[in-house]
Amino acid sequence: MNHCDFGKPQAWKHGWHYPKWSQLLVTYLENALVHTNTYTAKEIGMYIDFFMDTIGPHLGPGPLSLGSGNYQPQYPSAMTKDLTPFELSLCWKERKQQGKPIVRFINNIILFNAERTRTASLAQTLHLVDSLQKVAEDESSNLTLHLLPEIWKAVSKYLYNLEPRLHPQGGCLQCGSSSAFVGFDLKRMIASGKFYWRLPSCLDVPGALELMDSIFTACGPKNFNAWEEHLNLNGSVACPNDFRSTCRDLWTSLTTNPDEWAKSRPEAGPEFCLILHELTASSFSPSPTANGASGLRQSLSSKLYVLCQEIPRPDSFIVAQLLRHCNLAADSSILKVLANAAKPTNFISEISLAPRKDGTELSIYLSPSFFARKNWVAAADGYMAKPCILCSPDQN
Ligand SMILES: [Zn+2]
Repeated sequence: MNHCDFGKPQAWKHGWHYPKWSQLLVTYLENALVHTNTYTAKEIGMYIDFFMDTIGPHLGPGPLSLGSGNYQPQYPSAMTKDLTPFELSLCWKERKQQGKPIVRFINNIILFNAERTRTASLAQTLHLVDSLQKVAEDESSNLTLHLLPEIWKAVSKYLYNLEPRLHPQGGCLQCGSSSAFVGFDLKRMIASGKFYWRLPSCLDVPGALELMDSIFTACGPKNFNAWEEHLNLNGSVACPNDFRSTCRDLWTSLTTNPDEWAKSRPEAGPEFCLILHELTASSFSPSPTANGASGLRQSLSSKLYVLCQEIPRPDSFIVAQLLRHCNLAADSSILKVLANAAKPTNFISEISLAPRKDGTELSIYLSPSFFARKNWVAAADGYMAKPCILCSPDQN
């Protein structure tokens, strides 16, 4: 079975009374858990139950089925370019994984009645945190959840309470309605949760900065040398040599267009990448220098995100470059399947690279791409246009 195949939803043992998104998406999650060869059958069952029972009710209204496997979105998503409110990621972090990735997922948090306001999304977030806490406290459960419920609630409530002032009319076209996301790293028997919030886009810069706790640097264009200094934040962030060279080699191989495109497609290729400077306990820490490294240098690390939506190539091309440049994933059977796919696919929406003890961590972010698949075609010269799906105007 090819893990990319998305068959008809199975009549899962929980029956059909759940929102349709969870029925559609669970097969995708299950395929990933099975085909990574990382998890036991018990762990897979446990994570599927968790997804159906705890996450499913917060995914918003499912898509309309148009027949023949075609669907129409009913709700915008701020997360994927084709409005599927769910993204899977596979992560190769350590050598001891032996090429078998950790599966992670992230999804939008959306009210089931499809109310399109930030207030509704944030209120739903508070309900979700309550449900997660119940699961975490359930002693009969085999699943261990690592959560930060107090912080997640405090941030969500803070943003929720801002809404009457920011959006007295309720909706806002600039901000959209999909305002919070939850993600889980599915380790063996332990799921670690993460929360993400979208800042109100209509806020002025000082207002937005006040809310931010991460620094993002968007930078272009194609030449690695032009933005390399952002990776080490002008020398203030540790940037091991193997990480820098992996970033450079992968970026260059993904963004160098074939010569024959010079005339036919001069504009092809990415305009931006994204560099995130992350502050975490697990960040790569270099040995202190003789004169004592600064605390900042020890706890901050860089992550490079390559936005594959901007790279006009099918997954097979992108994955061939990952296998070439990213050692920790070089033995991955899933990547080999993607590299040899007969038909052009566009599941990989982003790639991230981060410096870790064993080398450069690689993650790939995969969208089930419910609404974009029928548009996937690669031209004879390998060029693949990547569609951006929008909700139809009468739905907004
Ligand atoms: Zn707004």
